[in-house]
Amino acid sequence: MADEFPFEISPMFEGERVRKDGMYVELAGPKSKGFELVKSVGMDEIEDGKFTLIGPDISEMEEGSRHPIAMIYRIAGELVEQDLEAIVERRNHDFQNYIQGVMHLNQRYDIWIRVSKDAMKKGLDSLEQIAKATMMLFKNELPFIEKIEATYITDMSEVEKELDGAIATYTARDERTRNLHDEDVDVFYGCTLCQSFAPTNVCVVTPDRISLCGAINWFDGRAAAKVDPEGPQFAIEKGEIIDAKGGEYSGVNDLAKSLSNGEYDRIKIHSFFEFPHTSCGCFEVVGFYIPEVDGIGWVDRDFMGTAPNGLPFSTMAGQTGGGKQVVGFLGIGINYFRSPKFIEVDGGWNRVVWMPKLLKDKVLADIPKDIVDKVATEEDASDLESLKAFLKEKDHPILERWVEEEEEDEAVEETATAAPTMQMPMMAAGTPMAMPAGSGGSGVKIILKNAKVSIDRVIIKKSE
Ligand code: SF4
Repeated sequence: MADEFPFEISPMFEGERVRKDGMYVELAGPKSKGFELVKSVGMDEIEDGKFTLIGPDISEMEEGSRHPIAMIYRIAGELVEQDLEAIVERRNHDFQNYIQGVMHLNQRYDIWIRVSKDAMKKGLDSLEQIAKATMMLFKNELPFIEKIEATYITDMSEVEKELDGAIATYTARDERTRNLHDEDVDVFYGCTLCQSFAPTNVCVVTPDRISLCGAINWFDGRAAAKVDPEGPQFAIEKGEIIDAKGGEYSGVNDLAKSLSNGEYDRIKIHSFFEFPHTSCGCFEVVGFYIPEVDGIGWVDRDFMGTAPNGLPFSTMAGQTGGGKQVVGFLGIGINYFRSPKFIEVDGGWNRVVWMPKLLKDKVLADIPKDIVDKVATEEDASDLESLKAFLKEKDHPILERWVEEEEEDEAVEETATAAPTMQMPMMAAGTPMAMPAGSGGSGVKIILKNAKVSIDRVIIKKSE
């Protein structure tokens, strides 16, 4: 059946990148609009394999142009239920990356797709080919799908019309976990889907922590594990509680050790600094420690500027991803901001000092009333000096930590011992540490693991 397509289909193309100069068209992405959505329907409501396109096809798009895209799949089957929609939807990312010459990034309303010039030359000139190949993979890999049909939309006004409904669906999914908490369940769910590019990443999805891609919540994990227990989503028995506040459980640790091939053996689900959750690269938001104020900033994919530490999202994402525990950076899904256990062990919202305005607006209703005006955005602080001034002016609770640290420093000075002006929070021994550029770091021990350091020349100069 795959012979009908003018491209190869294989998981080996998953890591393929389509760069700007090799791209024929770009669909959705940060400079346009788009989304992907899966809806479950009754068996008699759809026609298996049907494809509908609303708007121009690839053959009608100019080379190098950019277009919106909505990809809507409707699925049916005896075992298909609403809880499976998010899990199926997340696989659109994998399956489209199996297609040679197609690059699919991110999820939900953040999707970003490119089709390469080479693929176009070989005959990939219609979205119907992509849709049919993707539907074939959905049915092959997820046999509980008995019928599937796809509607792709590339007309901007039609995409915009459907986008609100899609966002309402994502929101309704996320809302389901609101009244369920980690202590209410005996089982969490794991996901290793992203190990294809981040081999040691294990996502732990709990009622109080959505996956870092933001696409899989506890209910979604449960539905996926039920229908395909050998698949990439699976149950994790919690086991013994080791640290209730940090979110450490013996069952999670055991599994983390085996699934990361021993790379790490402890995970604290709600900790930023100590044995943090791994970050694969699909995270919606990156958290970054700002040692100068002893606070944590957060930046999402949509923010195009630089954070107060002078770094854009892309640079910090590069430091964070890869499936490691990187102390100082943490990838999360946006819905984790709404969790009552949000980095609880590190101070929760009282530790948050900066986030982009659009991101802050998205989660505004969930920020505690007493802190909401004290979290700076790019409109209040664009660098470390303006951030410090803002936090002081607003009497942010982080100031209490500054006082404690100053007192500690004074005590240390009295004992005539050299000490750093700002202590790093406690971290696991042997954990790689990533420091933002220009952050000083006096007194910090940096351990490079699995690193190759090559030096062409060493010049030794007498100091002036
Ligand atoms: S980010 Fe995590 S939950 Fe989401 S697909 Fe990847 S491994 Fe699964």
